[in-house]
Amino acid sequence: MKKTDLIAPETYNIVNEIEKYTTDESKEAIVFEDVEGTVQTITYSKLIKNANRVGNIFKNHGLKKGDKVLILMPRSIKTYEIYIAALKLGVIIIPSSEMLRTKDLQHRITHGEVDAVVAIDQCTVEFEGIKEFDDLTKFIVGSEQENWISINQEIQNASEELTVDETKRDDIAILSYTSGTTGLPKAVIHTHGWGFAHIQTAPKHWLSITEQDTVWATAAPGWQKWIWSPFLSILGSGAKAFVYNGKFNAAKYLDLLEKHQVNALCCTPTEYRLMAKLPNLSDYTLKDLHSAVSAGEPLNKEVIEQFQSNFNIKVRDGYGQTENTLLIAFLKDTESRPGAMGKAIPGSHVAVIDEDGEPITNGETGDIAVSLDSPSLFQGYFKDEERTEKSKRGNYYVTGDRAQLDKDGYFWFKGREDDVIISSGYTIGPFEVEDSLTKHPKVQECAVVASPDEIRGNIVKAFVILQNDITGDEELVKELQSYVKKDVAPYKYPRAIEFVTELPKTNSGKIRRIELREAEKQKYNK
Ligand code: ATP
Ligand code: MG
Repeated sequence: MKKTDLIAPETYNIVNEIEKYTTDESKEAIVFEDVEGTVQTITYSKLIKNANRVGNIFKNHGLKKGDKVLILMPRSIKTYEIYIAALKLGVIIIPSSEMLRTKDLQHRITHGEVDAVVAIDQCTVEFEGIKEFDDLTKFIVGSEQENWISINQEIQNASEELTVDETKRDDIAILSYTSGTTGLPKAVIHTHGWGFAHIQTAPKHWLSITEQDTVWATAAPGWQKWIWSPFLSILGSGAKAFVYNGKFNAAKYLDLLEKHQVNALCCTPTEYRLMAKLPNLSDYTLKDLHSAVSAGEPLNKEVIEQFQSNFNIKVRDGYGQTENTLLIAFLKDTESRPGAMGKAIPGSHVAVIDEDGEPITNGETGDIAVSLDSPSLFQGYFKDEERTEKSKRGNYYVTGDRAQLDKDGYFWFKGREDDVIISSGYTIGPFEVEDSLTKHPKVQECAVVASPDEIRGNIVKAFVILQNDITGDEELVKELQSYVKKDVAPYKYPRAIEFVTELPKTNSGKIRRIELREAEKQKYNK
């Protein structure tokens, strides 16, 4: 793919990609199932009409192009309508998760200079302590509340026709906050043109979907992953999105995949891992599924093997960040290489670079980086010139993730810069050790970090959640250690193992190794 293929026309709005599917009045956009099992379907045509109505409500209450709206909505059809409405108007969206609390919201509202909020009724209480509360224009979805404009009520009289000011390719569309895995979330600026670049790559080449497919991407609104897959990739391809608003449960997910004849699935590695560990996995056939992808964290080999042997499906990894689009992945026709993260996406201009900003060609570990002129890249961190500049090295944006690039073009993920463990002079990526431990039948989940050590500088320490009914003791520690020693280079084995019942995670479910690492340091310094 050429770089020019990723550049949108100058006058451009990302909703164009969805609106073009409204000509066939009966074309379905979303199938939604709630926890009670009630199923609702909406067509592209109706979705846009409803979005137009919401857009008119926004307009009637003074929202205009360039204003910022924080949207705090769960997985629902209404969420799609609200996002489309704001984007059409050129109103900048700050996606937020319903799991955010007052403190998180305060940071986004003050830092993001928010003008308006949209929230479901269960979450409005979180806004009560917000400093700017009186100055915000507040829209509520669900039951009515004082000081909040009711979308449910106003929608009945709102017009289905929406007139809008034109937006440009370089106008800001979304201000996405990162997951906060390593610190305070950062606000990433994305334009309508970035959305175009994303739609040209991920849906066709990675998710591998067409208009004929029913696609389930499980990410929840509020994370960049939701913008990527459930929103832009699926609706931007004219496919049918399946949406379920219940909590994750491995058996339930597999039931739903069969019931709704899902053709393509986009899940987190943790979701795949828990499905792969189900003892009755072979009861399912998933006969309609032709594509399965994973992103957000490293994907374990165990998952790939289980899905391959049970369903004859190759779960394909994909790597990207809030700051960019998909950069590295196994596309449908990329030859398997278990343990690798995939190859550079055509047109993504990604490389592994050294400290001088030069591409590394001898297979050594370096920083994953993206050429600064790539259309897949963000415009910078909002109100943080210093951080934006710091993320650049030579002609590249530096992701903060470490990898090796082999001679065949495969990237091997080593870990986030800060997560890499240096022990007795060896550099050890936590992921390889975690991957090995996860394969052990008694292990449910684990995280591996550096723990300070007088002699070795650091040792490799694993925090392990065991499968139900298994208790950890000294003997099991030894068993796990020798298991890893046989599987990976022996110097990488975890010299310390601690059994735990949970691991610190971000709201989006990513392991926060930083917390475990800091706790180890503190224990050591005492
Ligand atoms: P923060 O930047 O706030 O600390 P975050 O980096 O987790 O949080 P995201 O932008 O949601 O926020 O996540 C991107 C990061 O997730 C990548 O930089 C990488 O570390 C990790 N990641 C994403 N996909 C993969 C993958 N396929 N394999 C390994 N790691 C991945
Ligand atoms: Mg990050």
